[in-house]
Amino acid sequence: MTPFDYARARSEQGAVAGARDAGAKYLGAGTNLVDLMREGVEAPGRLVDVTGLSRRIEPTNGGGLLIGAAASNTAVAENAAVRARYPALARAILSGASAQIRNMATVGGNILQRTRCTYFLDVEGAGCNKRQPGQGCDALEGLNRGHGILGVSPACIAIHPSDMCVALAAFDTVVHLAGANGRRRVPLVDLHRLPGDTPHLETVLEPGELITAVELPSQSITARSTYRKVRDRASYAFALVSVAAALEVADGRIADVRIALGGVAPKPWRPREAEAALIGAVPEQSAFVAAADLALSGSTTRPGNAFKPDLARRTIVAVLTDLAGADL
Ligand SMILES: Cc1cc2nc3c(=O)[nH]c(=O)nc-3n(C[C@H](O)[C@H](O)[C@H](O)COP(=O)(O)OP(=O)(O)OC[C@H]3O[C@@H](n4cnc5c(N)ncnc54)[C@H](O)[C@@H]3O)c2cc1C
Ligand code: SF4
Repeated sequence: MTPFDYARARSEQGAVAGARDAGAKYLGAGTNLVDLMREGVEAPGRLVDVTGLSRRIEPTNGGGLLIGAAASNTAVAENAAVRARYPALARAILSGASAQIRNMATVGGNILQRTRCTYFLDVEGAGCNKRQPGQGCDALEGLNRGHGILGVSPACIAIHPSDMCVALAAFDTVVHLAGANGRRRVPLVDLHRLPGDTPHLETVLEPGELITAVELPSQSITARSTYRKVRDRASYAFALVSVAAALEVADGRIADVRIALGGVAPKPWRPREAEAALIGAVPEQSAFVAAADLALSGSTTRPGNAFKPDLARRTIVAVLTDLAGADL
């Protein structure tokens, strides 16, 4: 591992000041970053440990929830307000990694975890535009079973691997940021960038910008939500496809609906055209099938992941059918 400086931040301002130098990175629990440093994928000159910053999970004035970026994944999944009002978020987190990793991993680190593409991790042997612009993408003609089908480009077909982010995307979560130019808020669905021809630029964060919190708005629909993850093993595996969804029915028609997809795109994917098509529809299978077709209509596949559009369609339909059948 390349030598690096380490500093523990005691305040948000201190963290931002400490990460001013190019080459500095924030350190959450290190469950992703330290692995990448060991593999030689990342070599920050300075780590600014932000695990001492806010871990609070507290109500907002608007009736939502504000979750400090240093809160552990377990703390969020076990929080009574999250379980009652945002059940898809608790389910998504509990479907990820292992209990030990969830106990350590932070909200900020989960949002900014890097892709699990095999070639991205293979510094010695593989060409990867995300790791080294201009190298090409070995996944295009290689092992691409876990790769993306929506929002991908000829330069990169990697997916964002987070389960938590999929539920956050369905709930219109807003990410609070602090940086050298002050504070700002960005919708979670706008935080991660699509690869285009610059897959090494993964988010809209400015250099040194810190995630301080995520804010879940107050919306009645979020209490009627769930998360389903389809994967190769029952535990300890990333999603091939996942769906976070919420459904609100009034007078026999769909009054509101949320759908977000994981495992299929370089960012948590919100198929808004599918949601729009469902508003006002009778909550029955034909409407769900039509919406799922719309959600996957722009997909492009490689030989290894040609199964994903159908798997995603079926998972959307199954999740919405379950929600419609539940006691809403
Ligand atoms: C074996 C294994 C299995 C896993 N399985 C799953 C799974 O099924 N589903 C899933 O979703 N995840 C899974 N994960 C990933 C795991 O959830 C992430 O490693 C974890 O969430 C990262 O959190 P962290 O606090 O350790 O982040 P770190 O590793 O500390 O940091 C990750 C990135 O976030 C940046 N960062 C951290 N905090 C901030 C902040 N506040 N502001 C700005 N930048 C910040 C760091 O600079 C770094 O770039 C798995 C991990 C392992 C090791
Ligand atoms: S899919 Fe993206 S991360 Fe994977 S090898 Fe290609 S460029 Fe790299």
